[in-house]
Amino acid sequence: MQCPRCHSTQTFKNGRRQDRQCYKCKKCGRQFLEFYQPWCYSNDVKQICMKMHLNGMSLREIERVTDIHHTTILHWLRKAREGLDSISNK
Ligand SMILES: [Zn+2]
Repeated sequence: MQCPRCHSTQTFKNGRRQDRQCYKCKKCGRQFLEFYQPWCYSNDVKQICMKMHLNGMSLREIERVTDIHHTTILHWLRKAREGLDSISNK
């Protein structure tokens, strides 16, 4: 399992919660549930992050506010840009 905060794979099982396996990161101490993937945020969350970025916030500032790792946000921005490019090339 990969830590959703620092993307470290040094995680260990930390009991169960609501019938799901709970994990804890050795590196940053973040607790998270099984199936929780850093790239599985809802579209609403993505839109808010991209809006903040368009309004001039840096990825690190967005990370502080939303607790979403800046590389995750960068990944969305790249994906969004690729999508726009493929539309404009048609
Ligand atoms: Zn971590």
